[in-house]
Amino acid sequence: MSPLLRFAPSPNGRLHLGHAYSALLNDAVARQLGGVWLLRIEDIDPARATPDNIAGIEEDLAWLGLDWPRPVRRQSDHMADYAATAERLRSAGLLYPCRCSRGDIAAAITAQEAETGKPWPRDPDGSPLYPGTCRALRPADIDRLVSGGVPLAWRLNMADAVAAAGPVSWRAFELAGRIWAVAARPERWGDVVLVRRDTPTSYTLSVVLDDSVQAITHVVRGGDLEAATDIHALLARLLGLSAPLYHHHAILTDAQGQKLSKSRASMSLAAMRQAGESPATIRKRLGFG
Ligand SMILES: [Zn+2]
Repeated sequence: MSPLLRFAPSPNGRLHLGHAYSALLNDAVARQLGGVWLLRIEDIDPARATPDNIAGIEEDLAWLGLDWPRPVRRQSDHMADYAATAERLRSAGLLYPCRCSRGDIAAAITAQEAETGKPWPRDPDGSPLYPGTCRALRPADIDRLVSGGVPLAWRLNMADAVAAAGPVSWRAFELAGRIWAVAARPERWGDVVLVRRDTPTSYTLSVVLDDSVQAITHVVRGGDLEAATDIHALLARLLGLSAPLYHHHAILTDAQGQKLSKSRASMSLAAMRQAGESPATIRKRLGFG
């Protein structure tokens, strides 16, 4: 099987240097492996994925001197597939609806902390685990909620999912060729949302299905997603989907140590282009000179 990679930005704004680094690294690794990389537009966020941002991604990547096969997969074209995938998990009894607002969740956690005198556990990204308020809903309550027309999120029952899947691991790869197994600990994330209230999928659900449908063999992405790979591996196992090898690269930060996407100093590639920077200088600055 020929190596196949992907660069998969969300069109929630213009690309910045961190994106350029990831795209250039995907291109370099694809060349090294004798494969190609695909562009995937992760536009499940209906409010933020604007046509301008989507067009801007291709424009910025082309300006950097990159090229990729067409057509480009856009997640918004595959919403029915994500919904069908969620339905498989739902009919296996692994998803439950959640009507909690952020405020409800915060209040439940505050109450728990007051009762136990201990800090509530947090996931690897630092967010408090879902307190499980809706986990105990009975089938009749669920039917009433679902037919009530109120938008609901659907959460993975992590304990049941882990029990159903058994031990899960994923494979990491180094650019020098070493491959090793990483034991997944998805339970660190608690009952994650797999179907959002505002869109019939989630980043997590879509990325797992897409990597399998597109037969991606090697994923090269930022280290901020490394811990979440445990959930991706769990879902791939539960759904019987193929899973790629993963390489998680360092996240570029600015001089103040801020992640570039969050940094006020980070300029978009479009702004750098307008300021007269050349693709060659940017490539060189990122170590691809
Ligand atoms: Zn809930």
